[in-house]
Amino acid sequence: MESGATRDLVILGSGPAGLTAAIYAGRAELHPLVLEGEPSSSSDQPGGQLMLTTDVENFPGFTHGVLGPELMVSMRAQAERFGAEILTERASRVDVDSVPIAVWIGDPAAPEPTLRTRTLIIATGARSLMLGLENEARLLGYGVSTCATCDGFFFRGKQIVVVGGGDSALEEALFLTKFGDSVTIVHRRKELRASKIMQDRAFTNEKITFRWDSVVTDVLGGDRVTGVRVRDVNTGEESELAADGVFVAIGHAPSTELFAGQLEMDKAGYLLTREGTRTNVPGVFACGDAQDHIYRQAVTAAGSGCMAAIDAERYLSSLTES
Ligand code: NAP
Repeated sequence: MESGATRDLVILGSGPAGLTAAIYAGRAELHPLVLEGEPSSSSDQPGGQLMLTTDVENFPGFTHGVLGPELMVSMRAQAERFGAEILTERASRVDVDSVPIAVWIGDPAAPEPTLRTRTLIIATGARSLMLGLENEARLLGYGVSTCATCDGFFFRGKQIVVVGGGDSALEEALFLTKFGDSVTIVHRRKELRASKIMQDRAFTNEKITFRWDSVVTDVLGGDRVTGVRVRDVNTGEESELAADGVFVAIGHAPSTELFAGQLEMDKAGYLLTREGTRTNVPGVFACGDAQDHIYRQAVTAAGSGCMAAIDAERYLSSLTES
């Protein structure tokens, strides 16, 4: 890594948003540095959430689909081809108020930042909240999913379990009724958190049934999911529920902790953007799931990454003009 000199652009994150930003910024000769994150079992690893999916059939341009990890390897290589420098590191601290912006890698208490940059694109993504079960992690991509839009198609004619009681769970369940024979919503209480309209839709859908006051205590199956173990929270009684697919829809959390108190965000921690991808701090842009809790698709993340690179390029041009 080039040391000392101030960078034009640093991109945090290497999912579709970060790498698309890197491709565009690379072609604009901004020589972006991408901090891609560090390998871990969670979704904020290099490549983002697509590294945890199998087939991606809705990313335009792939007639027969593409494996999530394969798509991300291609995007990474494409970014490097245009001169992006990619480091397998994560930022441990960022000071967006200093000019140029200061970024630390490693010890966040170090007196001097590791690097400085005129612009910063935040593409740190979001994590699906998970139940935290060992077999849930093992079978992720093999029957366990966090995205019905991405994976519902593979459960045509199958029995499906959805975990959660909010709008996400009901939206996933309703979408999955297009494919599955049956959809059972397992919810830990006997009242849903979801909006009335979503509740009405779910209650009147013949394919949806509810398992109230119940928590999933294990995901069953060898190579693929065959069911879940469920505990009734009132009686403590455990039972098994056969299923080919388990969709965990208990919420998402944006990976924006680094910016708490520095950038405007909503109550859930999603970064607020205006006029494209601008945050409230000049020179700092946000794209992808870190600022989007509505669409959360690879293609929308990639689109907003492109926007962020263009916004950063224009901002840099305005600095040299003034
Ligand atoms: P949410 O509203 O926070 O709901 C999460 C659900 O998961 C709750 O029912 C919660 O149970 C359950 N849950 C949480 N942790 C759990 C655990 N460890 N084990 C079992 N169950 C657990 O999250 P969301 O559904 O993702 O929605 C987030 C926001 O986006 C909401 O404001 C929602 O309205 C919005 N949204 C809107 C739409 C739409 O309008 N179409 C679609 C999706 C999301 P409890 O109820 O017991 O807490």
